[in-house]
Amino acid sequence: MAKRCLIGGNWKCNGTVEQIGKIVQTLNEGGTFPQKSEVVIAVPMLHVKSVQSILRDDIAIAAQDVSRTGMGAFTGEHSAQMLVDSGIKWTLTGHSERRIGFGPGQGESSQTVADKTAAAVAAGMNVIVCIGEQLAEREAGTTMDVCISQLDPVIAALGGNNWGNIVVAYEPVWAIGTGKVATPEQAEETQKQIREYIASKTNADTAAELRIIYGGSVSGASCAGLIACSNIDGFLVGGASLKSEFVDIIKCTE
Ligand code: PEP
Repeated sequence: MAKRCLIGGNWKCNGTVEQIGKIVQTLNEGGTFPQKSEVVIAVPMLHVKSVQSILRDDIAIAAQDVSRTGMGAFTGEHSAQMLVDSGIKWTLTGHSERRIGFGPGQGESSQTVADKTAAAVAAGMNVIVCIGEQLAEREAGTTMDVCISQLDPVIAALGGNNWGNIVVAYEPVWAIGTGKVATPEQAEETQKQIREYIASKTNADTAAELRIIYGGSVSGASCAGLIACSNIDGFLVGGASLKSEFVDIIKCTE
């Protein structure tokens, strides 16, 4: 079967009950989605159950994070087993907001991201693993060094297995939430290098089949130029996934 594009939305820590209901209504009234687009939205955990009960069934729900632990005395965590039990088959790992953290010393290491990814895959989940460089790193010419350092623990954790459960989201941190989208040339160049690196560590077929998506200020206006690139297999969308514009992004694969 031809590779489908993965169009992911990340609602982050947004949405009152009323606002979430309106976003779901917009998606539900968004008409027929292209066969080429597989759509997943990462919903705040508090809203998952209500969204599950009203969302159209051709959109899957993802967690925004997953615990590296199983069930037990881990206050505030959600284990992969619990997510699967609640019908959640997707999760993000390693979003830059989690890697950088929300206070000094609170960010997640690439090893933690790999452990979470492995825990989710072991439970049968699909994982969108986010990687990407900060502005100073791009300006210093170390973009691929950063991406490799973030990918290596995931590659080590997976070995050659379960790559069909993985989507890599290349998200340059300087483009996230800034309105400063990477150019198609910038995203394509890095995503091609990411694919080549994964091929060198796994094999050519695994890398060719892997979906590598782009995230960073994707909008209805920028999505067409990006999706035309051969190494861009979809998007992870933050801000625009809260707006009706997300439907246009879903349909850009037509
Ligand atoms: C994101 O949060 O992953 C993201 C890409 O956000 P935005 O689209 O708002 O830049």
